[in-house]
Amino acid sequence: MSEPKILCGKTVAAAVEADLKVRVAAIIEKTGKVPALATILVGENPSSVTYVRMKGNACRRVGMEPVKIELPEETTTEELLAEIDRLNKDDRICGILLQHPVPKHIDEQKCFNFIAPEKDVDGVNVTSFGAMTMQLDAYKSATPFSIMSILKYYNIELEGKHAVVVGRSPILGKPVSMLLLNENATVTICHSRTKDLPYYTKQADILVAAVGKPKFIQADWVKDGVVLVDAGYNAGNVGDIDLEACAPKSSAYTPVPGGVGPVTIAKLMEQTVISAEKHMSK
Ligand code: NAP
Repeated sequence: MSEPKILCGKTVAAAVEADLKVRVAAIIEKTGKVPALATILVGENPSSVTYVRMKGNACRRVGMEPVKIELPEETTTEELLAEIDRLNKDDRICGILLQHPVPKHIDEQKCFNFIAPEKDVDGVNVTSFGAMTMQLDAYKSATPFSIMSILKYYNIELEGKHAVVVGRSPILGKPVSMLLLNENATVTICHSRTKDLPYYTKQADILVAAVGKPKFIQADWVKDGVVLVDAGYNAGNVGDIDLEACAPKSSAYTPVPGGVGPVTIAKLMEQTVISAEKHMSK
């Protein structure tokens, strides 16, 4: 069997960022204003702190301004809604990112849904999800959008292929399933109540792992020639697929780190720039 192709996210992200730098420079030249992305971090979850910092750095790299909002762990749903309301009304802010997960006592979906659709550049509210699913103009869920962009960049054929998605979270498994369906893949969605998971994963032409369990997908759960997309990112820099064992059986795979993660951030930036182009040029 030939060597599997590495679906390098860093390459895709670099191409996206190069384009965005030019577009942001054009916005600044035209309006005299710097587009801003607001990031909201509630609490001090170490992974979330890192993600928010990485998003802020990406913002600066493409010439935009990150506006960091840091709220204490004990913030209530109402307080968070009030902060989102303030940002919704702030003309300077082109996009709002509420870092997932928020502390458990907060109604996360309610807060996601409160983000104005025209600023929902992370594609997390139900309006965005519905519109994206129906192939209407909407900001796409960032990680699913990243996965689709990687597959497109590397010309991975989707039409008529069997895509198996493990995970059905509102920010990942569910929306990526809809995007794959819209590209005419035949989609199977698996979750924690799925019986005999390997029965399904073994049928996958394209396997998307979005489980949140390190090295969960095993080598004998996948068929030869599968395309592996590992959306997972767990402690120790490992994904949700045992890549060491599974990648040799695959025709192509996204590495961890350097696969889905960097493109997710780049796509968040891209959607913020689209928002800036729409709203700052008025
Ligand atoms: P999540 O909200 O915890 O959802 C996990 C999903 O996996 C759920 O749908 C759950 O099923 C399913 N699941 C759990 N145990 C399972 C099992 N034994 N068999 C089959 N399915 C099982 O996680 P998430 O937010 O979607 O994140 C998933 C992974 O992606 C994590 O590793 C996270 O770090 C990573 N992530 C990466 C990025 C990126 O940009 N690279 C962004 C976001 C998340 P139920 O619905 O039945 O509970």
